[in-house]
Amino acid sequence: MSTNNKKVVTLAYGCQMSERDADTLTEISAQEGYTRTDDLENADLVIINTCCVRESAENKILGKIGELKKLKERNPHLKIAVSGCMVQQPGALERLQHRAPHVDIWAGTHNLPEFGRLIRLAEDNQKVAEVWKEPGPAFEATPLAEKGKLKANVNISYGCNNFCTYCIVPHVRGRERSRKPEDIIREIQELVASGCKEITLLGQNVNSYGHDLNISYDFANLLKQVDEIPGLLRVRFLTSHPKDLSDQLIETVAAGQHLCEHFHLPIQAGSNEILRHMNRKYTREYYLDRIAKIREIIPDASLTTDLIVGFPGETEVDFEQTLDIISRVHYSQAFTFIYSKRSGTPAAVMTDQIPLDVKKRRLQYLMNHQNAQSLEWRKAMVGKIYEVLVEGPSKSNPDRLTGRTRGNELVVFPGDPKLKGTLVKVRMREARSWTLLGEILSEH
Ligand code: SAH
Ligand code: SF4
Repeated sequence: MSTNNKKVVTLAYGCQMSERDADTLTEISAQEGYTRTDDLENADLVIINTCCVRESAENKILGKIGELKKLKERNPHLKIAVSGCMVQQPGALERLQHRAPHVDIWAGTHNLPEFGRLIRLAEDNQKVAEVWKEPGPAFEATPLAEKGKLKANVNISYGCNNFCTYCIVPHVRGRERSRKPEDIIREIQELVASGCKEITLLGQNVNSYGHDLNISYDFANLLKQVDEIPGLLRVRFLTSHPKDLSDQLIETVAAGQHLCEHFHLPIQAGSNEILRHMNRKYTREYYLDRIAKIREIIPDASLTTDLIVGFPGETEVDFEQTLDIISRVHYSQAFTFIYSKRSGTPAAVMTDQIPLDVKKRRLQYLMNHQNAQSLEWRKAMVGKIYEVLVEGPSKSNPDRLTGRTRGNELVVFPGDPKLKGTLVKVRMREARSWTLLGEILSEH
């Protein structure tokens, strides 16, 4: 294979953490001489960074890996790498290797630092598979970031200690490890220097950030410090576990200049019985109290959530409690999922699994209910003025610009493409199913 002009396609599945890891892999490939492309036909290396949080994600990824087999038949020098959560699942590697012998590199979530070496081995026509059981801390301190993007994700912690009974994440990402504040700040400063205007701080539970660092420094401290980085226009964060959402954090967001008034607070289910079986460690009453606190301190904060239907043992009455939460909270958006059995998790062996047709019916009902709420939320924004960060021309209508409010609502409006990366004031004109239409009042 020629060493010049090598091209890599990186495909990320799943959450923002997976996207962030995929960026790191793209950067490691760049160090090995690969430039990024979206064109599979011209790729020398394809990286698939995987997700295993639900079976549907795994099926989609397996389909993609299958498709690449044909590409490799047409282009025999193509190297295929599959990395991340799916590969890290206990016992998964052998099964995957058997199913997809055309893959050249298999790498677990903890093996990204070694990826350059794995690429070189594959270039030497070796098949490689590395899945460490434990993470290597040196790499997590300084992951490589793709520079020059308007919006970037920055990990503040890795892993999770919560062990919700349905969830595979702690099993494939390991225990919670907070990055040092100075490493996080340095990464953000570098991103800002390369043109980044908005960053999202990522952790499975950002609210417990710092607990493992043995210094007296927590997530609110970090937010305050990040808020002061010159040149950064916006700071977001994901995910807040409701059990650890403190008044202090809400107050910090309220007082911050660039801290967006948006809380992603997954409730998962509205019934206390189900929450207990999920091991979520809060009740619906506690959750609603947290929501009331946010609304008290930041009345127009946007709230989003994750919801699971069909957890083992969920009755119609339990399900109605989830619908009831939606009616009470007024989320701007909810991510809704059918419970998916993940082997190795406690919920997978619970006896009263819910039939698929019931789960599907509940999901449809839930989505209809939430969609109506989301539309109400956006309708209530019409006529008012919001700060919008311009992201560039709209994909579906290049004559229009798109951007997001501080609450993360998507807005489409006429304007000069040169406004990309700036904050503008937009009056909302009309609420559509998924977006708002607006018009610019002035540049800030
Ligand atoms: N750390 C985050 C969630 C990470 S996983 C939190 O605790 O909120 C993202 C979402 O996927 C979860 O919030 C949950 O709603 C969903 N999810 C996780 N495991 C699932 C499973 N086995 N079946 C269906 N949805 C699941
Ligand atoms: Fe999974 Fe629960 Fe950890 Fe979120 S908090 S990653 S749902 S175990």
